[in-house]
Amino acid sequence: MRIIFYKLFCRKTGLVYAGKTKLTLQERLDSHIQNYNTFLDGRGDICGSFRIIEQEDYDIIDIKSLEFANIEDDRHIDIRIHEQLCITMLREDHGELCCNIKNAYTNMKEYQQEWYIENAERIKEHSKEYYNENADRINQKIVCDICGTEISKRHTPTHNKTDKHKQNKLKLKKLIENNIL
Ligand SMILES: [Zn+2]
Repeated sequence: MRIIFYKLFCRKTGLVYAGKTKLTLQERLDSHIQNYNTFLDGRGDICGSFRIIEQEDYDIIDIKSLEFANIEDDRHIDIRIHEQLCITMLREDHGELCCNIKNAYTNMKEYQQEWYIENAERIKEHSKEYYNENADRINQKIVCDICGTEISKRHTPTHNKTDKHKQNKLKLKKLIENNIL
């Protein structure tokens, strides 16, 4: 699916609005105007773009146009991330003059959760690959300096909490304090 990320702006006030569409820019502009008129009739949701439309001196230009392979839903997270980047960019460049009210995605937690769900297979594969490539290093055996037990290097923190290790550490400490070592 091809998505155009666009900037709607007011020539009079300098107000800007970022959005995305699968329509042409002209069709999207027409629907912004349509939505504004519907809202004036007491129906439909408010949109930040109305502040621009009501000035009646607007234009719409594309920021970028991207092809999203195998994506049928224009609310897909990958598309919303790009939309959010456009909104964030306009907020940085234009401050209060950016009139987007809603974010394309609301918080990083939601984004991360969705990302992990969508990429679960890939992450699993990657972990497996990483493990296979580094198995020797991960499972490397060492002998503990304190108690002489053979342990996996990666289990050192767990081992350091065992009673055997702690008791030997205490003994060793006493020997050092008494200048025996
Ligand atoms: Zn030990």
